[in-house]
Amino acid sequence: MRVAVVTGAGRGIGAGTAARLAADGFAVAAVDLTAEQCAETVATIAREGGRAIAVGADVSSASDVEAAFERIAGELGPPAALVNNAGVLRDNLLFKMSDDDWDTVMAVHLRGAFLCSRAAQKYMVEQKYGRIVNLSSTSALGNRGQANYAAAKAGMQGFTKTLAIELGPFGVTANAVAPGFIVTEMTAATAARVGVDFEEFQAARAAETPVRRVGYPADVAHAISFLVSEGAGFVTGQVIYVAGGPRG
Ligand code: NAP
Repeated sequence: MRVAVVTGAGRGIGAGTAARLAADGFAVAAVDLTAEQCAETVATIAREGGRAIAVGADVSSASDVEAAFERIAGELGPPAALVNNAGVLRDNLLFKMSDDDWDTVMAVHLRGAFLCSRAAQKYMVEQKYGRIVNLSSTSALGNRGQANYAAAKAGMQGFTKTLAIELGPFGVTANAVAPGFIVTEMTAATAARVGVDFEEFQAARAAETPVRRVGYPADVAHAISFLVSEGAGFVTGQVIYVAGGPRG
């Protein structure tokens, strides 16, 4: 059984991806800030007959990440797939954005993906096999109120392409998925912040999306499922927009 690590797997896209990869036949390490946050994800996978463990780690902490990967390798085996999904928002217009808003977003998305990928590549290079998928976003193309998040999500794309170049010779691919509007607690929080009812918020986004609907975690998980599959070995360094249109 190949082992997949999914960060931010306590809810939303991460939880959906963990369930999908378990259904695909992976043993899944569901990582979130605390193991308790992944209890439901792991229970759902177990109910469906899959194998998963819950691991508590702050992806922006080098010691947490190191300990998490040691535990995962010991309990499940060496990771063959890594999905860098953990994320946070600290939206604000530039003139109101605090140092902490900037640093927190960079730490979770970019430093987190860096630390987890560096930890995972050791096992992947040894196995001469690996699949890394990083969560970017349509916000990488620019989005009002998200100077920090847009920079991090654009950074994820450059990071991904560089991993593809460096790790390709060792049988390791690296790709990014860039979702548009996906219904999760993250987008619910955005609606609340701007004072719009979440149902109305979704309807407005659906109306401006070419396929005339919003996205769901399963839409993103489907693309990730392809990218971590064995057959996707000639696809690397790519960014797949999962956005109901060319850019959501
Ligand atoms: P979500 O519902 O907010 O889930 C994110 C998860 O990551 C939460 O469980 C969160 O834990 C966890 N997390 C946050 N900081 C962490 C850390 N330092 N270490 C470990 N785990 C941490 O978000 P989502 O909507 O599913 O988004 C998942 C990813 O997709 C993110 O990278 C996001 O930027 C990206 N994305 C989302 C959308 C969208 O429309 N939803 C669109 C494009 C891209 P806590 O609950 O403790 O914070």
